Amino acid sequence: MIRVTGLSKKFDQLTVLRDITCEINDGEVISIIGPSGTGKSTFLRCLNLLEKPTGGHIFIDGEDIMVKGANIPKLRQKMGMVFQSFNLYAHLTVLENLTLGPMKLLGKTKGESEARGADLLRLVGLSDKAQNFPDELSGGQKQRVAIARCLAMDPEILLFDEPTSALDPTMVSEVLAVIRRLAKEGMTMVIVTHEMEFSKNVSNRVFYMDEGVIFEEGTPGQIFDHPQKEKTKAFINRIRGFEYTVETETYDFYAMNGAVKTFCEKYLPPKMVRNILLLTEELTMLQTPPYTLAVEYFEKKDGVTITLKSDTALVDPFKEGNETDEISAAIIRNYVEKATSARQNGRYVLVMELRAK
Ligand code: ADP
Ligand code: MG
Repeated sequence: MIRVTGLSKKFDQLTVLRDITCEINDGEVISIIGPSGTGKSTFLRCLNLLEKPTGGHIFIDGEDIMVKGANIPKLRQKMGMVFQSFNLYAHLTVLENLTLGPMKLLGKTKGESEARGADLLRLVGLSDKAQNFPDELSGGQKQRVAIARCLAMDPEILLFDEPTSALDPTMVSEVLAVIRRLAKEGMTMVIVTHEMEFSKNVSNRVFYMDEGVIFEEGTPGQIFDHPQKEKTKAFINRIRGFEYTVETETYDFYAMNGAVKTFCEKYLPPKMVRNILLLTEELTMLQTPPYTLAVEYFEKKDGVTITLKSDTALVDPFKEGNETDEISAAIIRNYVEKATSARQNGRYVLVMELRAK
């Protein structure tokens, strides 16, 4: 369906895409992962010629779209693009956002467009919002409308550029669920995403982009569980961490809780945030300062580790006979998969691996 050979893109002196070669077949769901600034967005934008490539070829259904005289508007119509920021028309209702393109560009009647629009709103779960304006919707709802609006143009392929990055963590899953449903229905899609679990579950192939090329590609199993190249490994195994030191008994609990929450909401899957907050609250009530609390997220395992470190002593809620409030200890045990306490370089260390669910 799409074949890219030797695609390159320079912005003045800056070479962003060096030599991209790949094929995207009908019905495939491809996710593109990689550090930021490696040209993922530029690649998507080159695919539908929002950005003019510097070299190489892009064939769509066998047609070279980079030759002079190619029917660019028609080719672009084959590809719908969903952006990080939803780009809805603010002065139009949700339904009008969906009918404008088909009426103006596909020559469909108002009736046809509205009927199709209503179907698509049902598909993305927003039938009751047809007459609302974008401002009246949440971010997740806006993004679902943006997806429906793309679908209204009957594209052959959908390109997503980090469709959930601008969303509150609580709204990520509703958008991913819609994309997952489209995948099930056989829609061809290319998705740039930082949601590793989602990428693993939804795609049949994963491109890891780095150094201006598709650095490594494979099935989700190959890329996430057995990456071959060092850079891919480093990216996949990336750890995100946060540390907070509690100095004295009169420490500012709310400030700590707020800092943990901010970190978690930025980096962790929403399902984990609440558990971590409850757990850190219980854990810190048991301890006597000074000590350090660390929260670390291991992307690969989709797992979180909470570590307490102290120079003096730690109360281990997993140890029988400790003077631990039983309810508090029970709550903690409920969230923790595995706990190990040890002495490291004279410090007391308690490491807790959290249950994923
Ligand atoms: P990613 O999506 O992987 O984070 P981008 O494709 O957005 O990466 O950007 C890759 C590089 O190209 C970055 O260094 C960025 O600053 C640069 N870049 C992107 N768009 C432009 C542009 N229009 N003009 C100049 N430089 C750009
Ligand atoms: Mg980008």
